[in-house]
Amino acid sequence: MDVDVPLGVLCVVTGVAGSGKSSLIHGSVAGRDGVVVIDQGAIKGSRRSNPATYTGLLEPIRKAFAKANGVKPALFSSNSEGACPTCNGAGVIFTELGVMATVESTCEDCEGRRFQASVLEYTLGGRNISEVLAMSMTEAEVFFSEGEARTPSAHKILDRLVDVGLGYLTLGQPLTTLSGGERQRVKLATQMAEKGDVYVLDEPTTGLHLADVENLLGLLDRLVESGKSVIVIEHHQAVMAHADWIIDLGRAQGTTAARSFSRARPQSLWPPSPRSPASTSRLTSPAERRCAGSVPGKRAGAARCCCLGKVA
Ligand SMILES: [Zn+2]
Repeated sequence: MDVDVPLGVLCVVTGVAGSGKSSLIHGSVAGRDGVVVIDQGAIKGSRRSNPATYTGLLEPIRKAFAKANGVKPALFSSNSEGACPTCNGAGVIFTELGVMATVESTCEDCEGRRFQASVLEYTLGGRNISEVLAMSMTEAEVFFSEGEARTPSAHKILDRLVDVGLGYLTLGQPLTTLSGGERQRVKLATQMAEKGDVYVLDEPTTGLHLADVENLLGLLDRLVESGKSVIVIEHHQAVMAHADWIIDLGRAQGTTAARSFSRARPQSLWPPSPRSPASTSRLTSPAERRCAGSVPGKRAGAARCCCLGKVA
């Protein structure tokens, strides 16, 4: 089976379970130069990991604090030198009450702030590190964009976290307190940092609520608008309805078949060949695609074809 996958659009690969949609894309698109595969497995997080540590955001923040105060970056990590010695930077004290119960109480020494008192005297843009970690992503995005605190590398990561709809989370919120959907989007924001032209997402809506699915679709739209190609393997109806292009895999006459159609003008293409064991797919740029005419699209400038190459 040969399938042409259009570039420059949101392309959804769908089909019943076992139709081979994942093998088609993972087998022939993933692994090429410029292709970033975003896997959607759950992320594990300890009580000490938070969006700032997981996304790498803490690094530029620690460096900015260190530079502004002429001290070592390690002081601004609650897992390192700057940690409160009483709770070792956990912010809480665990007291074991016999075999069955452990009681968690806020550390009295640092009052849950996780840092040594001396570290909290160092400020950047008028805030100490604990105050920064208590900021929401949205607040921090503004904070790191201007004045003494201006840190472009931190701002970029914050931008993506806001993009995936997590603007309300605080930087220092333990990952263990996030919902499955929230953790998935933290991961998505992290993997988006990898430079690529083509992003492949395998069932990204797994475990997401409808509102989260809408945030995700907004993010995918922004990727396409910025000139990227997005291939989503998915059977969620909202995602299919949002696609510019759908490749639908199924079984026809005992063989795997694919049909492709654009969102604006669904049409079945060539009938499948009965004998072609290997699946291949080819990425086609808008210019390469044979086009029977443009159809109006929801994005100005985005590739618009109502005709895709062969499905032979
Ligand atoms: Zn403490």
